[in-house]
Amino acid sequence: MNAAALLAAKCASCRTEFHHASFGDLAYGEAVLSTSDGRRFARASAGSDFAQRVANLLTGNDRTIWPFLAALADPIDGLAMTHRIVCPACRSTELESWGGTRLGLTEIPDVTFTASERLTPTELANRVAAIRHELPGD
Ligand SMILES: [Zn+2]
Repeated sequence: MNAAALLAAKCASCRTEFHHASFGDLAYGEAVLSTSDGRRFARASAGSDFAQRVANLLTGNDRTIWPFLAALADPIDGLAMTHRIVCPACRSTELESWGGTRLGLTEIPDVTFTASERLTPTELANRVAAIRHELPGD
């Protein structure tokens, strides 16, 4: 388990105030992923062996590895993982505010890649290409 801060967020769509886990701006090479309902968190590390396999498949246009690791991660409670901050009330990712107030500490597990780790190099390359295709072009 990994200690993370719980930081206040406010949804721009439904105005619900909620919390999201964070390692803070100083965390290098790690990120908090969330379940698609915004209720469970897990830690992803860019330094793991699997993350290195994924990193080797990224191109100069891929700004970060996190959307790829989120899409390749094992679900938690049957829910897909996301690198975005999700409102647990309405599942919007539009935030009015985020990160200002620290609400406490929590312990979060490491994200796992049990299914994706079994992919052959070709299968993993195909998955990474498919994930890239699905990302919003922002
Ligand atoms: Zn909301």
